[in-house]
Parts: sequence; C-alpha cells; structure tokens
Amino acid sequence: MTYDDSNVFAKILREELPCYKVYEDDETFAFLDIMPRADGHTLVIPKNPAINIFDVSPEVLCTTIRTVQRLTPAIRDAVEADGVLIQQFNDAAAGQTVFHVHFHIIPRWDGVALKPHAGDMGDPDVLAANAEKIRTVLEAA
Ligand code: AMP
Repeated sequence: MTYDDSNVFAKILREELPCYKVYEDDETFAFLDIMPRADGHTLVIPKNPAINIFDVSPEVLCTTIRTVQRLTPAIRDAVEADGVLIQQFNDAAAGQTVFHVHFHIIPRWDGVALKPHAGDMGDPDVLAANAEKIRTVLEAA
C-alpha cells in the first residue's frame, strides 16, 4: 500500500476540508475528531505523509508523540476529564479508517462509557465550543 494523498487528513492539511483545529506547529497538526467518542476527542497527525506505524519514520513519530504529550494535559483540563486514553490504529483489520498516521487523544470520566469508534457525527456547536476550550487552555499554558 502506498500513501494516498486524497485521504481526509491530507485534505485537512491542505485546507481543502474544514476542521476544528486546536494546535499546529511546523511538524504536527491537531484537530477534533468529527465523530467524537467523548467530549474533547482530538486527533494528532504529522504533516509529513505516512500511512501508519509501519510507514512513519522514527523522527516523525517522535515529533508527533511529543505533540500528543503536550496536548494531553491541556485537553484533560479543558474538558475536566478524570483520565485520558491514547489510541492508535494500524491497518483496516485493526480499525484504521483514515490512512494518514494519527493518534487519538480521548478524555475519559469515571463510570462513563466510550461512544463507538467512528460512530455518530458530533454536534457542530459542541465541537466548536470544545475546540475553543482546548485552545484557551493551551494558550494559557
Ligand atoms: P482511525 O479509525 O483510527 O483511522 O480513525 C479515523 C478517525 O477520523 C475516526 O475516529 C473518525 O471519526 C475521524 N474522522 C473521519 N473524518 C474526519 C474529519 N473530516 N474530521 C475529523 N475527524 C474525522
């Protein structure tokens, strides 16, 4: 399998599709999952094209996970979560649906079940409000 730059995340990076952006630097980009499994569910991607863990260089993986580590406490605080799940899927058999490597940052609350993976579309007003809350915490950090 070769990287296909018509995937949705490549289109978001090229600004051909909208997103609820929360963070960007020279190497990485983060935005809300449009079908969130929980409030504040965020995706972190490298700007470099790579399909998944089998394809990404160690250098790009390092910059990406560094962004995951930087954003996770801000996301937790923004939505007042009790904990945070980090998830990453490789190949369709494992549940990967978008073939540009990415990490899911999913806030969790005690006793609250996760919604299904890639389930219902999020409410646009709630997504916009959560993105704003996360950006505010990040800017204050
Ligand atoms: P994965 O199954 O790990 O490849 O996850 C892909 C994720 O991308 C799913 O959780 C989808 O809900 C999410 N997703 C798909 N299209 C978009 C989009 N246009 N904007 C934001 N998230 C998306």
